[in-house]
Amino acid sequence: HKTMAKTKFEYVRQFEADDTCLQNCWVVVRLDGRNFHKFANLHDFRKPNDERALRLMTRCALTVMEELNDIVIAYGQSDEYSFVFKKTSNWFKRRASKFMSHVVSQFSSSFVFYWKDYFKDQALLFPPGFDGRVILYPSNQNLRDYLSWRQADCHINNLYNTTFWALVQQGGLSNSEAEEKLKGSLAGEKNDILFLEFNVNYNNEPEMYRKGTVLIWHKVDESIDKKIITPDAPEGKNVVVKRTRKKVLPFHVDIIGDKFWEEHSEILAD
Ligand code: ATP
Ligand code: ATP
Ligand code: MG
Ligand code: MG
Ligand code: MG
Ligand code: MG
Ligand code: MG
Repeated sequence: HKTMAKTKFEYVRQFEADDTCLQNCWVVVRLDGRNFHKFANLHDFRKPNDERALRLMTRCALTVMEELNDIVIAYGQSDEYSFVFKKTSNWFKRRASKFMSHVVSQFSSSFVFYWKDYFKDQALLFPPGFDGRVILYPSNQNLRDYLSWRQADCHINNLYNTTFWALVQQGGLSNSEAEEKLKGSLAGEKNDILFLEFNVNYNNEPEMYRKGTVLIWHKVDESIDKKIITPDAPEGKNVVVKRTRKKVLPFHVDIIGDKFWEEHSEILAD
């Protein structure tokens, strides 16, 4: 790292605001696709859930976790993803703008980079964008409540969207008729419409749609084939080397109840 020569211009650095994140807090970065309602329509997303888009979002989030430091868990649904940096992280001296800009830019470039793996020959029509924000949570309960809030949002929206698109795609209603029918309806009423009119049991809908996606680190055992050279095998011989490695894996499970947090107690530890 080279030091810049002091010049009379140097004082402008003083204009940079201090955005150090408070010590001991969980740092959450949430990003959200810009104008994705329109983006989804222009790229023929399947309604209510385009599986390709959800898998692409998760591929990007996985890249973010693997490329950046100190992210312990991520949660995604629709066009949003939340990333949680560990309380003790001192990455970039805990500067909020560094956390947020690195997450959002890594995610955005990944979205374009991996697009074709999920959308095949369907062209990406323009460069998509994502907004980002940083939120600090001082207690484990606050952090759990934040993640519960996002998963509850996923559930509410998905139940609405699933019922709405059943009424439109199978029930022959116009968009505004379906909207009118669902205005003010309770969850139980939407479940009844799905079950009685369309023979759909909402609880049997794919978990990825109903629960969203949780990404956490997992220890995985790997066996790799290696050629080693020994005195009695100067030509080299093949051996299997076992090692454990940490890898990010996706889950579509409830994170509101205690079960998940008991099974993965290491996430909130330290
Ligand atoms: P950091 O992540 O902290 O920004 P960095 O490696 O990006 O680390 P910078 O201080 O931003 O460090 O410097 C960018 C470096 O990238 C330059 O020092 C140079 O080596 C290289 N670089 C950037 N643009 C060009 C270019 N157009 N031609 C040649 N080298 C370049
Ligand atoms: P803003 O820029 O304010 O975020 P937005 O149009 O992105 O505006 P959101 O509230 O973020 O609004 O909603 C995202 C919209 O993107 C959803 O309502 C839905 O129409 C669409 N969408 C996102 N992901 C998917 C998906 N996997 N399948 C189908 N539609 C999706
Ligand atoms: Mg640089
Ligand atoms: Mg630079
Ligand atoms: Mg929004
Ligand atoms: Mg959006
Ligand atoms: Mg959104």
